[in-house]
Amino acid sequence: RPSLVQRVGMAIGRGEGPPRLRALQDVDLLLQQGEALGLVGESGCGKSTLGRVVAGIHAPSSGTARLGGEAPMRGGHKATTRVQMVFQDPFASLDPRMRVGQAIAEGPVAHKLTTGAEARDYVGRWLEQVGLTRDYADRFPHQMSGGQRQRIAIARALAMQPDILVCDEPVASLDVSIQAQIVNLFLKLRRELRLTMLFISHDLAVVRHLCDRVAIMYLGRIVETGPAGAVYADPRHPYTRALLDSVPKLVLDADAVSFQPIAGELPSPLRPPPGCPFHARCPLAFDRCMVERPLLRPVAEGREAACHLA
Ligand code: SF4
Ligand code: MG
Repeated sequence: RPSLVQRVGMAIGRGEGPPRLRALQDVDLLLQQGEALGLVGESGCGKSTLGRVVAGIHAPSSGTARLGGEAPMRGGHKATTRVQMVFQDPFASLDPRMRVGQAIAEGPVAHKLTTGAEARDYVGRWLEQVGLTRDYADRFPHQMSGGQRQRIAIARALAMQPDILVCDEPVASLDVSIQAQIVNLFLKLRRELRLTMLFISHDLAVVRHLCDRVAIMYLGRIVETGPAGAVYADPRHPYTRALLDSVPKLVLDADAVSFQPIAGELPSPLRPPPGCPFHARCPLAFDRCMVERPLLRPVAEGREAACHLA
């Protein structure tokens, strides 16, 4: 059951006059069951907005989000497809006055995934699944470290037995020493639970570690997609190449430390440039790039890029 969003657009700041900001433009995204797709780009590129559309938190202002072969919905999703989200800040999804066990049990009890009598055991199993002991059920969020809170947020999402797990920068707010532990937890969970996951991150190394495929976003559009290994080894879009060059090589390859920051500033999404949205920063830009927007098209087996030269 592949899930996908088709030609999704997201306009923000409507009301009087035209939309002020197009956070997403004609985005197509395909997520196969059991696969982890990494959504990568600089902050402000629209990846969080896209994650929220997939999670049903935002309704797209145009286009469709179709999950698990269901009829497309303009707003929200049918209850038969469960999507859960893990956020960057674990506090955002945890009520500080609620014991962890109650916070985890709430949704599953309401959805009859467990009953009141069995809830404690159900919660205990999910706590163990995320590497915590059962007695964490009696604690409050403030009695735990950031890493432990994020484990709780993950357990809470998984206890809903979601068809799709959307993670938005789930390790970005954690200490570097803790980040690796949580990334390894996601690896373990993927293996054991065959999770279907949309993993949003600006961190290329984390995405390479965790994801089967990647989608690279720039100014509200997807500019390249493909298997993670192939895209990292041989990027076809100049923006992907620039992103990869902006990461110290040590992080990705472990042989040399060299990196090039991406030239120029991210243009304001309020006034996206004509033609190719990357042209002002692209070292390969030529006349056509200023006037004609390149479409996402197949460039190799299972790969797409939106560049006139790809
Ligand atoms: Fe660069 Fe032109 Fe390709 Fe855009 S279309 S990425 S400006 S070469
Ligand atoms: Mg974000």
